[in-house]
Order: sequence, then C-alpha cells, then structure tokens
Amino acid sequence: CYILGIESSCDDTAAAVINNAEILSNVVATQAIHEQYGGVVPELASRAHQQNIVPVVHQALQRANIDKKQLSAIAFTRGPGLMGSLLVGTSFSKSLALGLGIPLIDVNHMQAHILAHFIKAEGQVAPNFPFLAMTISGGHTQIVKVTDYFEMEILGQTIDDAVGEAFDKSAKILGLPYPGGPLVDRYAQKGNPKAFKFPKPKVSPMDFSFSGLKTSVLYFVQKEVAKNPDFISENIEDICASIQFTIVDYLMEKLKNAVKKTGIKEIAIGGGVSANSGIRNALKEAETKYGWKTHIPKFEFCTDNAAMIAIVGELKYKTQNFAENNVVASARMKF
Ligand code: ATP
Ligand code: FE
Repeated sequence: CYILGIESSCDDTAAAVINNAEILSNVVATQAIHEQYGGVVPELASRAHQQNIVPVVHQALQRANIDKKQLSAIAFTRGPGLMGSLLVGTSFSKSLALGLGIPLIDVNHMQAHILAHFIKAEGQVAPNFPFLAMTISGGHTQIVKVTDYFEMEILGQTIDDAVGEAFDKSAKILGLPYPGGPLVDRYAQKGNPKAFKFPKPKVSPMDFSFSGLKTSVLYFVQKEVAKNPDFISENIEDICASIQFTIVDYLMEKLKNAVKKTGIKEIAIGGGVSANSGIRNALKEAETKYGWKTHIPKFEFCTDNAAMIAIVGELKYKTQNFAENNVVASARMKF
C-alpha cells in the first residue's frame, strides 16, 4: 500500500510516498527566506508552507508515479514544532484524507527522526531493539532508550539550546550565513581541533547544555579580534575545528554515560546534526574502540524530511493506529 507523509514542523515543506518501507519519492522545499534574518521567522515559515504544500505534494505523487486515489493513508507531523507551520500540514492532511476517504495518521516528529532508521534504503541497516537513539537537531538534543517502535523513554536532553543551535549561533558569531552548521563542518575538516580550547558545561550525566558554549565562543572571538581584526578570517578553519571537536566530544561523553547506565551498545543517531562529519567519524571509531554497533541515517533522512513521517505512518497503519478527524496540531507534543 502507498502512504503519503507530510512534514511542515519548521521551515521545510516536505512530502514523501512510501511503499513497503521503501521510499518512492522524497520531496523537500527549503525556505530560503529565513537566511536574511539569521534564523527561522515563524510567520514567514507558515506563509511559505501555504505556498509550497500543494506543489510539493503534487511532485511527491508524480515522482512516485502514482495517483492520489491509490493512497491508503495520509501521515502528517502533528508536533512538536512551530504552531503556524504545523497548522498548515495538519489542515492540509485532514482535508486531503477526508476528501479521499482514507485514514489520517498523526506522527510525532521526534519519534520520526528515530524511526527513519527503519526505512529500507541502500546502506541502512535497521537497529535491533533495544537501542539508544541520540536525536541531534536544530530544535532538540535527546538521548532516548527505544524498546519498541513506539516505546521510547527520554534518558537525557538539553536544558537550554539544542546542539544545532550551538553550531548555528557559533557560526553567526564567526559571520557565517544561517544555518551555519554545515559551514562549520566544512571548515572544521581542514582545521586543527586542538588549536583552541572551549569549556564543556557540567550538567547531569545524560543531559546537555549548550548556551555556555556560544558565550565562550563570543568572548573568545571578541578578545582575539580586539588584538587582531583579521583573527577570524586567518583562523576560521582552526576555530571551526575546535568548536566542532568540543561539541562532538561532549555528545560522545553523554552517549558513553548512557551506554554505561543502560548496558545498551547499539546506537542510532538522527536529526540534522547527524550529517556532521565529526560525529559520524567519532561513532565509526566507537565501533572498534568500544564495541558499539552504530547506525547513521542516510543524509536525506537526517534533516527534516517527509520520508521519516511516511515510515511512521506505515508502522502505525499496520496496527490501524489512526487519528481522529478532530486531531489538532501540538507545538509541544511529547512522546
Ligand atoms: P527539529 O528537528 O528539532 O525540529 P530542525 O528542524 O531545525 O529541528 P533539522 O532539520 O533536523 O532540525 O536540523 C537542522 C540543524 O542541523 C541546523 O541547526 C543545522 O545547522 C544542523 N546541521 C546540518 N548539517 C550539519 C553539519 N554537517 N554539521 C553541523 N550541523 C549541521
Ligand atoms: Fe527535525
């Protein structure tokens, strides 16, 4: 059966069609409008979703080479996310499901980042239960114990900024355009990770804190620029490598604590920051160093996408776990 997934929780409008855990199409319209503001502007995101959603869904069906009448169900992101953005996907999905007379399936965006590992794709091996999932994105940073598809327990999470924000805000201090995470990664690959040292905040063993990091990056940069106005451009690679090293080391330390606490050595990461080369390398290294089994999703299933919504839709479809037609979007949706 064919299931359409729709994602609109933040600033990407996405639609995907899945059949038997295989993705037939995966369309994402990224909103460039936010770049000039250095961050996502909720009102503009909502408006852009309204403009994008029809063409994006249309393209997803077209690329999957199916007609909407062949769909068995519609899965959509109910939350968490920006209310104005979620409303667009929710209302659209409800109307389409009602119009086609097919079931509607609500999806938790954070569960979807984790369950993206169950998409059948080249290079992806589904994790075995129980496993630890570390979701690292622009809005979240969590370590979750996953005992079954929908049995998840948050072991630790950020008490302030998300790790993606730490990347983006540090990048902003360095004068890089939004979102700066991928650029920090690119420069970091040519720099010396030990060139500069940034402190790692102390919180409980499986929780995270990132707001202190951006402050120390800011003070450090201000101090150095006062001495040498060209400090940033002359040292961009080393600065980025050092920031990335600090973040990756911190993430790995938290994972090690979670492994110690639970005895689970199978690790799956998700969320946009999983694209980071530093964390990817550190996890691969951990396979031989600590005997972990690690899972890194394919790039297009890391950042916000609708394929991950579609796979959750399919898993729920199998148990007839449908939403009522009066379901509402939930900005702070919990597991
Ligand atoms: P959430 O999933 O919590 O709602 P989101 O939608 O903002 O948040 P994603 O699309 O999953 O998050 O991820 C976007 C984040 O990932 C941004 O902060 C971006 O800078 C970061 N990111 C993407 N690629 C990289 C990379 N290679 N290195 C570091 N950060 C990266
Ligand atoms: Fe996300």
